[in-house]
Amino acid sequence: MTGSPYLRIRSVQKSYKGSVALHDIDLDVEQGAFVSLLGPSGCGKSTLLQILAGLLEPDRGQIQLDGADITNLPPWRRNIGLVFQNYALFPHLSIRQNVRFGLDMLGMGRVEAEKRVDESLEMVGLDPSLSRRPGELSGGQQQRVAIARAIAIRPRLLLMDEPLSNLDAVLRHKVRLELRELHDRTGITTIMVTHDQAEALATSDRIAVMQSGRILQYEAPETLYGAPATAFIAGFVGSPPANLLPLTASGPDNWTLADGQVWQPAAVLAPKANGAQSGRACLIALRPETLTIGTSGDGGLPARVAAVEFNGGDRLVHAETGGTRITVRIAASQAIASPDILLFPPQQAPVLFDATTGTRL
Ligand code: ADP
Repeated sequence: MTGSPYLRIRSVQKSYKGSVALHDIDLDVEQGAFVSLLGPSGCGKSTLLQILAGLLEPDRGQIQLDGADITNLPPWRRNIGLVFQNYALFPHLSIRQNVRFGLDMLGMGRVEAEKRVDESLEMVGLDPSLSRRPGELSGGQQQRVAIARAIAIRPRLLLMDEPLSNLDAVLRHKVRLELRELHDRTGITTIMVTHDQAEALATSDRIAVMQSGRILQYEAPETLYGAPATAFIAGFVGSPPANLLPLTASGPDNWTLADGQVWQPAAVLAPKANGAQSGRACLIALRPETLTIGTSGDGGLPARVAAVEFNGGDRLVHAETGGTRITVRIAASQAIASPDILLFPPQQAPVLFDATTGTRL
């Protein structure tokens, strides 16, 4: 092991007409990993992906792939597969000709190219004997053709920009699973841009969460979910996301909520909230499934049920306490007998953020 990552992005910066799209991006990707760039619209995900593809030039910084500096290589010399949201297929070419396109560009012989086309179409679950043109296929099939075209060249890197966004909800779910399975079969190092946190959590080995041209956190999905680095991430990742409650530590066992109510999670929460000095304004992140609902007992926060959503396997209870709304996930079998409930905090150490900066305490 050299310890050197397969893809290494160093100090990459990019501005458009003086407005900064990427500040100073560092990112390492291991060979064979599936990585997502996740963030709201405009955070710089596509800009970074296009720089990796060679479609955009960074203002500063360096990109190394497999030990070689590719920062100034033109796209066609990078051996990178690209998949876009709108499929970008050639409408006048047949399915097979679309998949063969990149192989012809590489000057591959006819027999070998045809074999690769067969393999690639089979790999994405399409019939290689398809003679139709892209316009005659459904959106899901067109995206499979685009993916087959991208992997046919056996790329060193597969880059996908919102590949599932044009598909309906059911298909999106199906194809995202297929993408992960395809990745596992081919072992191609993959980077996917998405604004959909569920998509990123479901497919990726690691997720780089971006906001305003910066990477806030780059971790495995489980870490991102359980130990978000900022309040923004806690409120962005998860469906529904974590409850973010403004609190002031008013004593070792007392938490004062924004509306002045005192919550006394006592033994459970307060002693573990290290770093949160008395009087400091904090945000506490509480995942909906870590809270419990009861009607009696010590340390419960009185709340009133505003709405209950039935989701099949579980229910989401939206409760109000003072001015704050808290969502709790309970089993579908659990009955809510009265709208007046008590909310009990989780047993594990809480995740706390500074209320002003949003950074983890
Ligand atoms: P994302 O993919 O996360 O939605 P983008 O990388 O497309 O974000 O855009 C990042 C920022 O750069 C945004 O503020 C966007 O408006 C701006 N931007 C993107 N492309 C251009 C362009 N060609 N000209 C000017 N500004 C651009």
